[in-house]
Amino acid sequence: MSGIYIHIPFCKQACHYCDFHFSTSLKKKYDLVKALAIEIEIRKDEFKDTVVETIYFGGGTPSILTNDELQFLIDVVQSNYEVVKHPEITLEANPDDLSKERIIELSNSSINRLSIGIQSFFESDLKLMNRAHSATEAKACLSIATQYFDNISIDLIYGVQGASHEQWMKNIDIALSYNMPHISSYALTVEPKTALASFISKGIIGDVDDDQAHEQFHMLKDKLEEQGFVHYELSNFGKEGYFSKNNTAYWQGKSYLGIGPSAHSFNGNQRGWNVRNNSKYIRAIEQGELPMEIETLTKTDQYNEYIMTGLRTIWGVSLLKVNSDFGESYKNYLIQQAEVFINQHLLYIDDEHIRVTKKGQFLSDGIASELFKINLS
Ligand code: SF4
Repeated sequence: MSGIYIHIPFCKQACHYCDFHFSTSLKKKYDLVKALAIEIEIRKDEFKDTVVETIYFGGGTPSILTNDELQFLIDVVQSNYEVVKHPEITLEANPDDLSKERIIELSNSSINRLSIGIQSFFESDLKLMNRAHSATEAKACLSIATQYFDNISIDLIYGVQGASHEQWMKNIDIALSYNMPHISSYALTVEPKTALASFISKGIIGDVDDDQAHEQFHMLKDKLEEQGFVHYELSNFGKEGYFSKNNTAYWQGKSYLGIGPSAHSFNGNQRGWNVRNNSKYIRAIEQGELPMEIETLTKTDQYNEYIMTGLRTIWGVSLLKVNSDFGESYKNYLIQQAEVFINQHLLYIDDEHIRVTKKGQFLSDGIASELFKINLS
């Protein structure tokens, strides 16, 4: 089973914190959609031995495409790949694109999961982040979307400068009042070369505060677990039966095709990434070329990747898998490196799996890097 990710590289405006690939000019939208369809078609042999279980429109802002454009791309996948009978088809959407008419239209299409970029229900947070929607739009779109879609996820951002714990708790409560089955939540991160990084360096706004983010992460975790959500990945909480199939496949090391500019692909031992430029992407595809760079992963790279993703999830890192896939020396190394974190109650071993404790969860990426092996070749 595998997934197809389709990157839609357009946004109405640039959020201050964002370093994804997108353009705010829609001039090339038509050519881009055509190029996506061609890429889907020319790469079909890469998935000739597998069945597509999920299709994920990510971005950028995929809800900028019309329903006809989205359906066209789904049809191209369906006619070139073997697809399971009921694939999970997710659309990332922003509240300002989700009018009542649009939601109804989408609910009558093949799309069966919405991932809505709410980020906050407070105007002050949305302004600081330069989101294109208002708090009123966020609430209005959720009250309609939940009537037409059962499988909805929203994104929320914590650790925003000036957002008190009380405000964050209100955000969580408002989200819960819509009764959706999945929430993804991320700390506001300052990426280089973003507007946010520039405002902070010029002293226009203060820096993000790790302690604030850490505390707000635990407030979210405690509240959502109390409400029956499973914290199945560092940034993801879902009710049983509503975990993202697309992302779970990714965290479990399954293969995926990334279609579109800047999209990443993985086939088990190679990782590829498409050029991060819409014009170059379109030109190459029109000439029948795949504008992709490929890296072959060493055994050590694969081990490191497994440790990083495994520690972020409730499934943890299987010592049996490390032994069978990488060998006993890797397993022994892992146990030896993990010992210091076990003594600090940040990791624990249970049922032949290493997992992070509640105390270690927010720190899992840093802990994982201490368990990595270094490529010597
Ligand atoms: S809408 Fe999403 S992809 Fe577009 S700028 Fe904002 S965060 Fe980035």
